[in-house]
Amino acid sequence: MTDKSLPEGLRPETLAVRTAIERSQYGENSEALYLTTGFVQPDAATSAARFASGEGYTYARTSNPTVTSFEQRLAALEGTEAAIAAASGMGAILMMIMGLLKAGDHVILSRSMFGSTLSLFAKEFGKFGVQTDFVSQTDVDEWRAAVRPNTRLLFAETPTNPLTEVCDIAALAEIAHAAGALLAVDNAFATPILQKPTQLGADIVMHSGTKYLDGQGRVMAGALCGSRQLITEKFAPVVRTAGMVLSPFNAWVVLKGMETLGVRVKAQCENALAIGRWLEAQSEVARVYYPGLPSHPQHELAMRQQSGLGGGVLSFELAGDTPEAARAKAFHVINSCRVLSIATNLGDTKTIISHPATTSHGRLTEEQRQAAGICQGVIRLAVGLEHIEDIQDDLLRGLHTLPA
Ligand SMILES: *Cc1c(COP(=O)(O)O)cnc(C)c1O
Repeated sequence: MTDKSLPEGLRPETLAVRTAIERSQYGENSEALYLTTGFVQPDAATSAARFASGEGYTYARTSNPTVTSFEQRLAALEGTEAAIAAASGMGAILMMIMGLLKAGDHVILSRSMFGSTLSLFAKEFGKFGVQTDFVSQTDVDEWRAAVRPNTRLLFAETPTNPLTEVCDIAALAEIAHAAGALLAVDNAFATPILQKPTQLGADIVMHSGTKYLDGQGRVMAGALCGSRQLITEKFAPVVRTAGMVLSPFNAWVVLKGMETLGVRVKAQCENALAIGRWLEAQSEVARVYYPGLPSHPQHELAMRQQSGLGGGVLSFELAGDTPEAARAKAFHVINSCRVLSIATNLGDTKTIISHPATTSHGRLTEEQRQAAGICQGVIRLAVGLEHIEDIQDDLLRGLHTLPA
């Protein structure tokens, strides 16, 4: 039974809960979960036609109705024609590379991007002859200067982890298009609630659904959003043959997570801003990194690009006479928490506290970390939905008992 068709022009809050539901004969109100690998065909001729056209359901590596619902809902939120799911955020990037690039092609990435993204391009695809250049996250001229005749893709992430550096999506789109290349944007941190990169000129939006889209720290998921042509001609053939396909169960979890994306992200932004302001007033804190604060070097760009919201992630720095002393202070604050989780992830309803220099950025040399500004005293908070005074009290346990 097909749903009554929805009227045109519904707003994002409505689309988040109403779009992409194809009801079964039972008329379930909540989205069904189709945990099936194969699909029974009415007859051999229909089966042959579906295999030839790729339309209709045949086998879950090609498509599954729950995964389709996830893709349609995400595309509706991002305002793109289509989306295609992957098993994780990194699986989505793998699909993008395999779909767009070949040996001899050149890619430009920001140096501050997610660590696994940098290794996937430089290390894994370096082996296959894809050339990668790394440039400053914030200096648009460096991106322009890095363009070569064989540049096919610019890939940006904004804001970045953990120092929340922002890049100018519209400016990068112009550089990419002038070079005949595409711009892809990793929108895992901002989510479509803050920014819709294709409205700023980007061609592809990449998601880790593991983060805010699920929003409750349960499953891994990923996706690429873009034009129908890019999705069907470049990316669908890759996922169908290479198999970085999203599990229908995970698709269902994230599909339901997206229903509350707007209220969660706005509440997390509000909490993060309040905590950022409060941290700036603590004498033990040397510096706070948060795009929602006027002290952030790109505050104005961030507010313009991110719907006036700073996001749910912020970092702060404890100063020390030596890197070891700064690390001891950071560890003390982290270890003193009794509410916040010491964990790797973000976008969860539970606030997560982490020490980037020894976790997400632990494989860099101390010199590379210093160059990136990720000092031993930096602590990252991925702010959740707890009462803000409980988060503050938890941080004060350590801040008020710091070793000298
Ligand atoms: C987590 C993350 C990824 C990778 O996503 P997975 O789902 O963990 O594979 C990529 N980019 C950013 C910004 C992330 O935070």
